[in-house]
Amino acid sequence: MKRIRVVQWGLGAMGGGMVKLMLEKDGLQVVGAIETRKDYIGKDLGDVIELGEKLNIKITDNPKSILKKSDVDIVILATNSFTREVVDTLQLIAEAGIDCITIAEEMVVPEASEPDLAKTIDEFAKRHDVTILGTGINPGFVLDSLVINLSGVCHRVDRIEASRLNDLSSFGPTLLRSQGVGTSVAEFKAGVSGGGIAGHIGFNESIRMISDALGLGVDKIEEVREPIVSNTDRETKYIKIKAGMVAGCRHTGIGFVNGKEVIRLIHPQQICPEAEKAETGDYINIFGAPDIKMSIKPEIPGGVGTIGLAVNMIPLVKRASPGIKRMIDLPIPACLMGPEAYIRRM
Ligand code: NAD
Repeated sequence: MKRIRVVQWGLGAMGGGMVKLMLEKDGLQVVGAIETRKDYIGKDLGDVIELGEKLNIKITDNPKSILKKSDVDIVILATNSFTREVVDTLQLIAEAGIDCITIAEEMVVPEASEPDLAKTIDEFAKRHDVTILGTGINPGFVLDSLVINLSGVCHRVDRIEASRLNDLSSFGPTLLRSQGVGTSVAEFKAGVSGGGIAGHIGFNESIRMISDALGLGVDKIEEVREPIVSNTDRETKYIKIKAGMVAGCRHTGIGFVNGKEVIRLIHPQQICPEAEKAETGDYINIFGAPDIKMSIKPEIPGGVGTIGLAVNMIPLVKRASPGIKRMIDLPIPACLMGPEAYIRRM
């Protein structure tokens, strides 16, 4: 079996994990890595991801030095969340004639937040005959493509309500700040108005994907960010909060058709949810014919799931037609366990 040659662009929590997973897959070969961190450049990839052995791959900050179509089949991009921030990188990869999977949240459905840029990206992808996919656990899977797959057995769907209740305890200060953890209620409200407390990035994308897949015709999306106020003291490796302070953000996205709610996605993210007996999990409720209720307890771990999806989508992207793809444009993802997963699906 000819292995698919992959360059990993971005070696943070996600990128490092993707390299480790790809090394376990017989059908994949990691051939390069790109980073801007000064302490990584020039070092061996195996050392930087603490593999315990060298990979004989030098990390570079010069993409053009390694992005050659004759040597690379696909790039996984794990650097940023926003289409505007990754568009130049995507163009450079496309101009090299190489396919790309990105985990930038907005790229899961780029036209939802950046319609003009989405058009530009689709055009340059087609011009250079490459495929670009945005994926990840959420957006990309739990609150959109999984919901869409479940709806496949329904005769009629009246309304969808799905929630992902997760634990932020293992995350560091940057993510905790973006969710308002450790603020007072007044600071939380000011942070939401000022944009510093963003909550979840992805409701626009997930609602748009569900609406388009089912043909629901959502014409308005509203988002609400509310503080999860703790009744107890809570403590993680990174932060201690007192009762009365904010433990997280309950972020809700609602899709309407002619003023009627048809999709409600709820994402309460907090530290130490067990402190108040909140059970983490992914819950999908489809109301229609038939009603469908699915719960996954505890929730699918976000980082692990994102790494898995990005890697498992590689053969599917390699066989796709050129242009921007969404998860609903490609066959359903499956864990790459043996040769058939590469050959049959290619
Ligand atoms: P991280 O901060 O741990 O790592 C990002 C890495 O990218 C850093 O090492 C940084 O130095 C590097 N980097 C940034 N810009 C670069 C550039 N131009 N060239 C080369 N390297 C660059 O973040 P992470 O946890 O690995 O996540 C990466 C991104 O993916 C984040 O924006 C995150 O929000 C997003 N994400 C999306 C999903 C999803 O469900 N869709 C899930 C997880 C993460």
